Amino acid sequence: MRHRIAVIGGGPAGLTFARVLHRHDHPVTVFERDPGPDARPPGGTLDLHEGLGRLALDKAGLRAEFQELSRPEGQAMRILDTDGTVLRDWLPRPDDRANPEIDRGQLRDLLRGPLDVRWGRGVTQVVPGTRDGVRVHFADGRQETFDLVVGADGAWSRVRPALSPVTPHYTGVTSIETSLDDVDTRHPDLGRLIGDGSMAVYGVNRSLVAQRNSGGHVKVYTKFRAPLDPHPNLDLADAEAVRSNLLALFDGWAAPVLDLLRHGTAFVHRPLYVLPVSHTWTHVPGVTLLGDAAHLMPPLGVGANLAMLEGAELAEVIATAPGDLDGTVRAFEEQMWARAGKWAEITAAGLERLVSPDPTEALALFDEVQPS
Ligand SMILES: Cc1cc2nc3c(=O)[nH]c(=O)nc-3n(C[C@H](O)[C@H](O)[C@H](O)COP(=O)(O)OP(=O)(O)OC[C@H]3O[C@@H](n4cnc5c(N)ncnc54)[C@H](O)[C@@H]3O)c2cc1C
Repeated sequence: MRHRIAVIGGGPAGLTFARVLHRHDHPVTVFERDPGPDARPPGGTLDLHEGLGRLALDKAGLRAEFQELSRPEGQAMRILDTDGTVLRDWLPRPDDRANPEIDRGQLRDLLRGPLDVRWGRGVTQVVPGTRDGVRVHFADGRQETFDLVVGADGAWSRVRPALSPVTPHYTGVTSIETSLDDVDTRHPDLGRLIGDGSMAVYGVNRSLVAQRNSGGHVKVYTKFRAPLDPHPNLDLADAEAVRSNLLALFDGWAAPVLDLLRHGTAFVHRPLYVLPVSHTWTHVPGVTLLGDAAHLMPPLGVGANLAMLEGAELAEVIATAPGDLDGTVRAFEEQMWARAGKWAEITAAGLERLVSPDPTEALALFDEVQPS
């Protein structure tokens, strides 16, 4: 039986869901708000874990293509003290494929391949329970009706209100990102400092992480505790003011680490919001959520992995047990909530330790999770 299925959002969750359905020859339409695939910078590198994001790629039949694109050497991790002393310098073994990195844009292109993605189709509202199914309202004024609408539209989901009144809340930690291009040519010392993967420095209530993407592109993430509103000194229109405020915030840190901020080219402000741990809802026939829309958590390397696995699993059960669509979705939700709740707890505790009054907490966390 062929259901009319729409997925709202063409991020990791929505594209993986659609790609696995496509693999099973089940039609699905992806509605994405962005006007096109290159409408905005795709974001930094993602590490995909065995048993999570990589399992999802298996379900999509994309493991070989992923291996071609991914960077196992990107798993390397170096931790410095704020004075520049190297505290940890972890390198993956040559055959280590546990958590290879991939640029987010490459992953998106890999997943979307042959899919029917309708760009520039932002959703404003989803209304379940109409005579003909679930009605989707678009920003362009059009409406369409489906048997199942899957909300994979991220933190500020417009599908979520059909299921849950809950909205994300601020964690107290904010992030400002910057980036450097052609690092090995333009700033070879910084290229060596970062290595093939990531370099992190943890101070009192603040951290700085630099991550290598492909092509010598580096993303630098600062995180620190700050009130949300009014946010001090973060007028991003004035890049030099942001730079000098960040340099003041990280004053006293080793010069090469601060050089990452001195040479950064654009600044992006990302206050970290989360949904409550173990966010659930009363099941509503014809609508469900995946990924950040369902369980937004701190960015500790798991959100995209979970989003992809959920997308793949839901698609697989719909495609292989197509009879009772509502029962299938309901059972999937129970499974998703149980797993996501555990990860939400882990990542919430992790954020407290990574942006902590006691910077040794971050090192201890690294030692707990990193294979020796
Ligand atoms: C700095 C940073 C680093 C991270 N690093 C990692 C990592 O290494 N590993 C990891 O697993 N996770 C990581 N994460 C988390 C990860 O990015 C998210 O968990 C993941 O992107 C969630 O995927 P998603 O598909 O649910 O949502 P999103 O990626 O947010 O995608 C949602 C999509 O929906 C579209 N959309 C939004 N609203 C609408 C609308 N109304 N109508 C139509 N379309 C809409 C958006 O344009 C977007 O394309 C990181 C997050 C951040 C911020």
